[in-house]
Amino acid sequence: MAERPILLWLRQDLRLADHPALAAALEADAPIVPVYVLDDAGPGQWAMGGASRWWLHGSLAALAAALEARGSRLILRRGATADVLTALAAETGAEAVHWTRGYEPWTVRLETELHDALGDRGVDGRRYSGSLLFEPEAIQTGSATPFRVFTPFSKACRAAPDPGQPTVRPEALPAVPDAIDSEALDDWGLLPQKPDWAAGLRESWTPGEAGAARRLTSFLNRAMAGYADGRDRPARAGTSRLSPHLHFGEISPRQCWQAARQAAAGDPAKRRGGDSFTRELLWREFSAHLLFHWPELPEQPFRPGFAAFPWASNDKALTAWQRGRTGYPIVDAGMRQLWRTGWMHNRVRMIAASFLVKHLLIPWQEGEAWFWDTLVDADLANNAASWQWVAGCGADAAPYFRIFNPMLQGAKFDPDGAYVQRWVPELARLPAKHIHAPWEAPPDVLAQAGVTLGQNYPQPLVDHKTARGRALAAFETLKAGSG
Ligand code: FAD
Repeated sequence: MAERPILLWLRQDLRLADHPALAAALEADAPIVPVYVLDDAGPGQWAMGGASRWWLHGSLAALAAALEARGSRLILRRGATADVLTALAAETGAEAVHWTRGYEPWTVRLETELHDALGDRGVDGRRYSGSLLFEPEAIQTGSATPFRVFTPFSKACRAAPDPGQPTVRPEALPAVPDAIDSEALDDWGLLPQKPDWAAGLRESWTPGEAGAARRLTSFLNRAMAGYADGRDRPARAGTSRLSPHLHFGEISPRQCWQAARQAAAGDPAKRRGGDSFTRELLWREFSAHLLFHWPELPEQPFRPGFAAFPWASNDKALTAWQRGRTGYPIVDAGMRQLWRTGWMHNRVRMIAASFLVKHLLIPWQEGEAWFWDTLVDADLANNAASWQWVAGCGADAAPYFRIFNPMLQGAKFDPDGAYVQRWVPELARLPAKHIHAPWEAPPDVLAQAGVTLGQNYPQPLVDHKTARGRALAAFETLKAGSG
């Protein structure tokens, strides 16, 4: 075995299976020092939100245990990433630093800075793929430009060389010398205290590679066959709930992609579900593609014409939306599911986001920031691209004038009201017929269900028809075809 170690710098790749940067270090037959650096200043305004920090704690604890079970150890350090890693490389006499490539703007800058700083000290900086199926430069239009539209992007991905088979988790790893110090995870203060608001998160999730693998298996066995339709029904466990695991890299997109294709082979129902599921994985790829090529995506409208949109500032309405007290049951159910569990069903994310930007005319960036803080799967690319898509200013976005009607959306996707009943208990006794528009229910029905609008459940914050007209008028002020 070589003498000089390789530092394995871990970030959104907190797993041991299908990990090209780790596999390459193992092949070099050198000691390996796995390290995670907590760098709160690096990402600027996009430092991890509260729910993500909670997840990170669990994920690092799980990874540390998995490393120890294989004879290794996770080193934790805090500070400016490039400084910490160059110092650790000097301290350990490392010959190389390996890492999995990232795509956020600060990460792209940091990787270049780190590569140069290491090079100046004679240390080899090597980055590997591992978080995407297809690198952003590998998928191009016929004129060698990035894609702006999803369907041709997804076709190009499906026509590209297969991402290959995932590699297995190593059974044993080289020991980390005792002399290398690690900070204590508990000292990082990632878990909320006073108040501890994470009870719902603990009930809902098991961060870490083993939890991710269980979610995938259960999805393949139980939900994938019905996914194509079931994915739009928020009351059902019809989707994989792999998003936080994918964000933190506890499972690779390649593991999900290949497992879904394999499970679908020879089973027509599963094939339809599998195609639909891999399509969603390609939406994830598309978001990363957009963020990489348009790094201002989290802050600026993709269609520049939208910079002149007459947004409103309304703190009271924003707070009502955040707390799930808009008076629109499907919106409130979603916002409360988010607050309690750190996750919201995709269909309801679309409805709740549309309500914020169209019914309330509140800038999409406000919603994006709230999701960033409260989602366990908060992901810069997916969050920014999805908010822009809903707001109508994104790449391949829904046309602005298509305004979701929350009552119709509720009736269509939560027809028996089970989702609203689950998350808005004060409406639980309302019959399904009225549950998505309680203000239209006859007084005796409301009384029987114990609902007093304006007292134990809010009156609608805005009238749907009025809000729709106002949103369309605001949209008219943008010059046609701008952006
Ligand atoms: P599944 O339906 O099982 O899909 C499998 C995987 O595909 C997901 O885990 C996810 O990685 C990916 N995926 C699915 N839908 C999308 C999509 N529309 N765009 C990109 N990738 C997708 N997803 C995030 O991971 N992080 C976010 O911060 C995020 N913010 C969003 C904000 C808004 C306003 C909206 C409308 C959507 C957002 N999404 C985000 C996308 C989507 O809602 C979630 O990925 C999905 O609900 C996660 O649940 P799942 O794992 O059960 O998904």
